Amino acid sequence: MAGKERLVIIGGVAAGMSAASSAKRVRPQMEATVLEKDAYISYGACSLPYYISNDIKDIRDLFALTPEAAEKERGITVITRHEVLSIDKDNKEVLARDLERGKEATFPYDKLVLATGGSPVIPRLPGIDLKNIFTIRTIGDGLAIKGYTDEEQPEHAVIVGGGYIGMEMSESLRKRGLEITVLEKMDRVLGTMDEEIIKVVEERLAAEGVTLYKETSVEGFEGKGGVVDKVITDRGTFDTDLVLLAVGVHPNTGLTQGVGIELGARGAIAVDEHLCTNVPDIYAAGDCAETLHLVTCKKVYIPLGTTANKQGRVAGENAAGLDSVFQGVVGSAVTKIFDLEVARTGLTTLEAEREGYEHVSSTINGWSRSRAYPAGKPITVTYVVEKGSGRLLGAQMVGEEGVAHRIDTLAAALYSKMTVEDVARLDLAYAPPFASVWDPILIAANVALKKVKKGA
Ligand SMILES: Cc1cc2nc3c(=O)[nH]c(=O)nc-3n(C[C@H](O)[C@H](O)[C@H](O)COP(=O)(O)OP(=O)(O)OC[C@H]3O[C@@H](n4cnc5c(N)ncnc54)[C@H](O)[C@@H]3O)c2cc1C
Repeated sequence: MAGKERLVIIGGVAAGMSAASSAKRVRPQMEATVLEKDAYISYGACSLPYYISNDIKDIRDLFALTPEAAEKERGITVITRHEVLSIDKDNKEVLARDLERGKEATFPYDKLVLATGGSPVIPRLPGIDLKNIFTIRTIGDGLAIKGYTDEEQPEHAVIVGGGYIGMEMSESLRKRGLEITVLEKMDRVLGTMDEEIIKVVEERLAAEGVTLYKETSVEGFEGKGGVVDKVITDRGTFDTDLVLLAVGVHPNTGLTQGVGIELGARGAIAVDEHLCTNVPDIYAAGDCAETLHLVTCKKVYIPLGTTANKQGRVAGENAAGLDSVFQGVVGSAVTKIFDLEVARTGLTTLEAEREGYEHVSSTINGWSRSRAYPAGKPITVTYVVEKGSGRLLGAQMVGEEGVAHRIDTLAAALYSKMTVEDVARLDLAYAPPFASVWDPILIAANVALKKVKKGA
C-alpha cells in the first residue's frame, strides 16, 4: 500500500479517543484522524452530575485530553465541529461537514471506527420543545443546566425517569437546594433491580426530601412565554421551574443507513468479539455498539463508559493490525444516590425470570466492618442463583459503605462462571475496619447455598 495507512474515527469521547490512542500505540506510523461534531472531546460525562452539584468545581477537571494534547502527546489529529454525514464503503471515504463554515470535505480511510455513541431518548410529547426541558449527555448539557441553576435559582425540578441518571441528578439538584419530584412510569426506581434493594433506595429518597411518583406517565408539558412551568401526567399536573428528561439512551446509528452495516441488540451496531461490523475494515465501539452478555451469552445493549473505553481500545488495536478480543460484559454497574452506594452485576431476579432461568433469590443484611469497630454501616446483599447447578447468576448490593468494590468480587465470580458454593469458599481479606470476619459476600453465599440445596 502506498503512503501511510489511514485510520478515521467518528466520535471523540470515550470509545473514539481510546480507539485512536490504542491504534497509535500499536502502530505509531498509522495516521489517526478523529472527526467530532461537538466542540469538546475526551471527557467524562459520568462526572456531569457532580459538576452540577458543585462537588466538582471546575469543568476542566472532566477532560482527559484536549485536541492539542492529543496531537502533541499521541500524534492523533482531532478535527472538532465536523459532522460525518455519510460513509462511502466502496471508495473508503467519509463525507463530513464543517459545522462552523458549512463546507463539506471527504476523508479517505483504510480502517474506520464508528464511535458515535448514544443520545438521550426524547419522547415526542406536546410541549417538548419548551425552554428549560433538559437532557444530560454532553458538556454542553452540563453547562446549560449548571448555568440555569446558577443564574435563575430555580426552586423546583421535575425529573422524568428513575433510572441511575435520574437518581444521580436528583441528588445533584437537591444539593443545589431544589425541591425534587421524580416521575417514574414503572412501579419502582432503578429498572429491574430487586425489591429488597430498591426499598432501601426509595426510603433514602424520601428521607432526603425527594418526592417520588411511581406508575406515573408523562403526557406533555405546558409553559408561559415558551418556558416550561407544568408537567402533565396521567396522575395530575406538576408545577416546575425545570424538567430533566432521563428516560434512556439510544445508539447513534444513522450513518449505517445505506452502507449495509447490520444492527443488532436494541438497534445498536452489530459487532463480533473483535469489534468488527459485517462490513470489511469498519469497526464499532462504545454506546453505538452492542456487546455480549457473558451470563446469558446473548447480545445486549448496555451503554456504559467503562465498556466504551475497553471496546474502543480493542477496536483501535485491531484497526492497527492486532487480533484483540473484547469478551463481553457481565452487566456490572454502580451508582451513588445521596449517601448510598447501589451496585449490581449479572442478572436481577426479574431478568433471570425473563431469561427463563430456574432460580432462587436470597437477601441478607450484613455489616460493612466488624461490629466491634466503630462507624460500620449496614449492607443489603441479594443473590440470584440458578437452581440445580448452583451457578451465580447475579448480585446486587446497597449500603453506605463498602458496596462499590465488593460488587467487583462478584463480577469476577460471574466472569469465571462460579457457583455460589465457590463464592462461599473465597479467601477474602479480613480486618475489623474493612469487613466482618464473615464478609457480607460470604454470608450471602452461605444463605443462598442453603436455599439452593433445600430446593434441590
Ligand atoms: C450523566 C451521566 C452519567 C454517567 N455515569 C456513568 C457511570 O458512572 N459509569 C459508566 O460506566 N458510564 C456512565 N455514563 C455513560 C458514559 O458516559 C457513556 O457510556 C460514554 O460516554 C460512552 O462513550 P462513547 O464514546 O461510546 O459515546 P459518546 O460519549 O456518546 O460520544 C460519542 C461522540 O460521537 C460524536 N458523534 C456522533 N455522531 C457523529 C457524527 N456523525 N460525526 C461526528 N461526530 C459524531 C458525538 O458528538 C459524541 O461526542 C454516564 C453518562 C451520563 C450522561
